[in-house]
Amino acid sequence: MALTPVYGHEDVRGILVAAVRAGTLAQSLLFHGPSGVGKQRVGLWLAQQIMCESPAPDGLACGRCQSCRMVPRLEHPDVHWFFPLPRPDAATPEKLREKLEESRGAELAYRRADPFHVPAYDRAPAYFMGTIQNLQRFASVRPAMGSRKVFVVGDAEAMVPQESSPEAANAFLKLLEEPPADTTLILTSSSPGALLPTIRSRVLPVRLVPLPAEMVADFLEREKGMARADAERVGGISAGAIGKALRLLPGAGGAGVLQRQREAGRSLLQAATSASAADRLSAANAVAPAGARGEFTGTLEALSLWLRDLMAVAAGAPDALAFTDDAALLNGIVTRGRVEAEGVASALLRVQEARELASGNVNPQLIVADLLRGIRGDLLRAG
Ligand SMILES: [Zn+2]
Repeated sequence: MALTPVYGHEDVRGILVAAVRAGTLAQSLLFHGPSGVGKQRVGLWLAQQIMCESPAPDGLACGRCQSCRMVPRLEHPDVHWFFPLPRPDAATPEKLREKLEESRGAELAYRRADPFHVPAYDRAPAYFMGTIQNLQRFASVRPAMGSRKVFVVGDAEAMVPQESSPEAANAFLKLLEEPPADTTLILTSSSPGALLPTIRSRVLPVRLVPLPAEMVADFLEREKGMARADAERVGGISAGAIGKALRLLPGAGGAGVLQRQREAGRSLLQAATSASAADRLSAANAVAPAGARGEFTGTLEALSLWLRDLMAVAAGAPDALAFTDDAALLNGIVTRGRVEAEGVASALLRVQEARELASGNVNPQLIVADLLRGIRGDLLRAG
């Protein structure tokens, strides 16, 4: 199996491929933009452009040479895809390093077998010192096939000092300061504000914007074989991110994570509309502290989806519900609290602000405590 084709981002891709052919591509880049918008996929696409042995006259990778066939199958020995992983149990740093590389291999195997695979981990994934050491080792050897090595380092914000391994970010910084001449580093992040400023200052930022909802629907129709009407409905609530759309699908590979986030979002909504301040406090305390930043962002996204459905109910448009199973719960909230659509709109803006705060270094529990108080005020104004 190979990765699905890249959808969208034509402008950015045009600029990147022109830089590759002109030999002016920065050695270290940071793809930033909303979660699920395709940053790592475009990173791997760029890796293919760099590795292609006989580019077409328009500069794009030929799609036929050995490298072009290997990169999308995640089989190219000089293209290394890194992502945060849960910490394995290991007695020594050396064992930890080995086990982290084993789990990365296993995760890559899943992604090779299923291009829609979304990992579901029991523990919060992060970058540990062992991962960075593995990355450094690959960076220090000569390329196996071509003349360059490319590293795609996904969710780079998981490399922050308050994670379990403070030295990982600093070790990575050393690599960024003096990368081997034959090495390209592509970092991706949906929370670039959470990256060490010293890391941010050493990478060329490249912004990837949300896709038109139509294009997300096209993807779902063509690549997932969905009926057009379903594809458009999911595309419409995907915020222009294919990755997000895939996580919304029932039975998605990452249903475990999505389900957990959806439930966490519901708990927050229920706490916000509860009469009891103690409920709100315990909901805030139930949110993981700084460690699991990605998970927290996911919970806030889930809360936004709940609020959008609440809006549909409050506005008397139940046909617009994304999750019809929860209509009864939302009806109850609207009826009991005499909730109006205007209040829900304010609450949605508030979640947006919370998500921006969450990408900085603010404690998630403080953000949630504030957020729930605010949402309560927005929703229950009439009550
Ligand atoms: Zn090629």
